Amino acid sequence: MLAVENLHSGYGRIQALHGIDVEVRQGEIVTLIGANGAGKTTLLMTICGAPRASKGRVLLDGQDITQMPMHQIARLGLAHSPEGRRIFGRMSVLENLQMGAVAGDPAHYAEDLDKVLGLFPRLRERLNQRGGTLSGGEQQMLAIGRALMSRPRVLLLDEPSLGLAPLVVRHIFDLIRQINQDQGMTVFLVEQNAHHALKLAHRGYVLVNGRVTLAGTGAELLANPEIRAHYLEGG
Ligand code: ATP
Repeated sequence: MLAVENLHSGYGRIQALHGIDVEVRQGEIVTLIGANGAGKTTLLMTICGAPRASKGRVLLDGQDITQMPMHQIARLGLAHSPEGRRIFGRMSVLENLQMGAVAGDPAHYAEDLDKVLGLFPRLRERLNQRGGTLSGGEQQMLAIGRALMSRPRVLLLDEPSLGLAPLVVRHIFDLIRQINQDQGMTVFLVEQNAHHALKLAHRGYVLVNGRVTLAGTGAELLANPEIRAHYLEGG
């Protein structure tokens, strides 16, 4: 469904990605794990169109989206919940969700809002509260809910566990599993929290300095001694 082929990208002279190949099939949760600065965020952002790839391709259902404008990529069904959540702090929860619906079909708005609020009852209780006053976990729910409002075909999640307490992380990961199982949502999850991500994902990739060094099923990677030593110590 989503295919990344030999993708190169970076910021001016700084090259962050050196030929990435990743595939996410329909209905899968695929994770990309890697240390700080490995290039995880850059990969998600390049898939969404900024920064632009300097080489290689991104295909969505076989269609080349590499050089498309960002809004068009969003309309084709890629929704991105960015690192650090980036919710609109002064807007209400409802207004944040409405922003997410901009890339979607207005005819689906009421139904999609109901679905998202069904998934995140905490947001329903706080619809008129300003986004900036939510807890970290609630802000993460809002960021994911906002991405779902466009009824995407692939949901891209950038470090949803960042800065959250362990119990809250577990809850967020349970919700991601639920979105995948109940709605058949295809998910590409970028995470530093390798333990949780690999337990959740059907398949995973390991990114080191802008290159994929390992790939396998979630269970294979969890059992891999190299991964255990580098990413799972104490996990
Ligand atoms: P983190 O978990 O810390 O966000 P990451 O794996 O997502 O790490 P990236 O943020 O993609 O990594 O960074 C990859 C490389 O690109 C790093 O060397 C980083 O310093 C560099 N980089 C990231 N953003 C920029 C930018 N806006 N301008 C210049 N270089 C950048």
